[in-house]
Amino acid sequence: MTHILHRAANAAMPVAVGGRGIELFDRDGRSYIDASGGAAVSCLGHGHPDVLAALHAQLDRMAYAHTGFFTTEVAERLADRLVADAPAGLDHVYLVSGGSEAVEAALKMARQYFVEIGQPQRRHVIARRQSYHGNTLGALATGGNEWRRSQFRPLLIETHHIDACYEYRLRETGESEAEYAARAAGQLEATILELGPDRVIAFVAETVVGATAGAVPPVGDYFKRIREICDRHGVLLILDEVMCGMGRTGTLHACEQDGIAPDLMTIAKGLGGGYQPVGAVLLSGRIFESFSKGSGFFQHGHTYMGHPMAAAAGLAVQEVIRRDGLLANVVAMGEHLRARLEQRFGNHPHVGDIRGRGLFQGVELVADRLTKASFDPKSRLNAAIKREAMARGLMVYPMGGTIDGVRGDHVLLAPPFIIERHQVDDVVERLGEAIDAAL
Ligand code: PLP
Repeated sequence: MTHILHRAANAAMPVAVGGRGIELFDRDGRSYIDASGGAAVSCLGHGHPDVLAALHAQLDRMAYAHTGFFTTEVAERLADRLVADAPAGLDHVYLVSGGSEAVEAALKMARQYFVEIGQPQRRHVIARRQSYHGNTLGALATGGNEWRRSQFRPLLIETHHIDACYEYRLRETGESEAEYAARAAGQLEATILELGPDRVIAFVAETVVGATAGAVPPVGDYFKRIREICDRHGVLLILDEVMCGMGRTGTLHACEQDGIAPDLMTIAKGLGGGYQPVGAVLLSGRIFESFSKGSGFFQHGHTYMGHPMAAAAGLAVQEVIRRDGLLANVVAMGEHLRARLEQRFGNHPHVGDIRGRGLFQGVELVADRLTKASFDPKSRLNAAIKREAMARGLMVYPMGGTIDGVRGDHVLLAPPFIIERHQVDDVVERLGEAIDAAL
């Protein structure tokens, strides 16, 4: 009998008691390859000795100092590290405890920026249907996943949604990649014009769509066009890289591969690799200055923002990734993972698409490859795949459901950056068996 309200109120969960490298262990002695990093969190795997040492050292020095009274050396060092590696123009950092908090803060920064510069009439946020930005009310309003949103709709601020750039589902027959990218980005301009360009605050998007569509990267120059549209209308671009950022796609920030920089960027999961809850917003100098030269403060804050233990985890994880050249392993193992997935599932009757970047890969499952018809949502395929995978000692992240008319069942893979070739082979082998058993 448990007194915890778990995510699934009636599910019996295995009890995790340990972790080492890419594996977690439960109380009954079973081991699980963490091929999803939880939910794209554990980028260094489990029990990394250098991160543990950094955490112990910080705990010995000081666990907590409220940011209303002090800054700390460890938080300043993390901010310096993040700015040194940030996309051009993002030269300030706001430290929080996770992804949803980062998204909430970014939305409020964007709104306060326009208040500070004398454009308080700007009030609309535009986001995308195939997206997830977190579960707190502002972030939930921004996300497009109806399954998560529907019962809370009366509590959500109004947000306007366009389609994500989702080639497999939304590119039309006969349409070139460039034409599709232009059409998908064009939805943003049409929506801005409809709402009135001087009334829009920001456009929010995941650079690579994560949990809601399964590692869907944009095509061609989609984000270059999005950047141009935002600039043309004075709209801020917020990229949510909570899941796809911090090295997961093979570059530190996913948007580096799209050749653009946002005005605000949210990061979390891989920032601290799960060793502590930590997230951040990276913001541009002009947004920072609107506060520093305007009212003098950003009207927001949480008790645990800039927590020294969280900053120590973020700093240690990021230093290990740099020191050990792990982004090169993300690229190499990402290519190997993709090749193995293509080999195993390329001709599978129920795999419609394999896509992703780096160690962030998605497999989309369909009832019929030709028509791309999806499975009946009542089949609960995602739950069955998770169960079958866990029975084979494998953690993957299967999601499913109808997302504003676009239905998809997919499995997300996001293993630790330290994964080795033979372990990738093992993951694909077990996944193949789990999917076939679940179908
Ligand atoms: N944004 C994206 C893109 C995410 O994938 C998530 C979580 O999955 C969040 C925000 C919310 O992060 P958290 O669960 O840390 O609040």
